[in-house]
Amino acid sequence: MRVCSAFNRLLALPGASVIDVAFASVGVIVTVRLRRRRRVCGACGQTGDHLQIHDRRVKRWRHLDLGAARCHIECELRLLRCPDCGVHAEAVPWARPGAHHTRDFEDLVAWLPSRWPRTRSAVC
Ligand SMILES: [Zn+2]
Repeated sequence: MRVCSAFNRLLALPGASVIDVAFASVGVIVTVRLRRRRRVCGACGQTGDHLQIHDRRVKRWRHLDLGAARCHIECELRLLRCPDCGVHAEAVPWARPGAHHTRDFEDLVAWLPSRWPRTRSAVC
């Protein structure tokens, strides 16, 4: 099994295909590409070819750790010119618009405090 296939299965990012994996000083950088070609505005969710491609840029999100290594997801996104919102990066299924962390990371951070004891007496 190739390393990209292994990371595809391991991360199971919705709508993404792993195209490269690199081990850097900041952790593991997993480069993905969007599987869909349809243009989706990252601000309002409009779809269609009327969203003109303004530019492209590489964006990085912090993902759940892989053992002792931090994991970052990196993807080249199209900057779309939306008639209602202006220029925004296209939407991705694994992160909320404008977020620097993936949905999985944010969900874990939101869930963890609910598992912590609420009183000092509950701490052993
Ligand atoms: Zn829009």
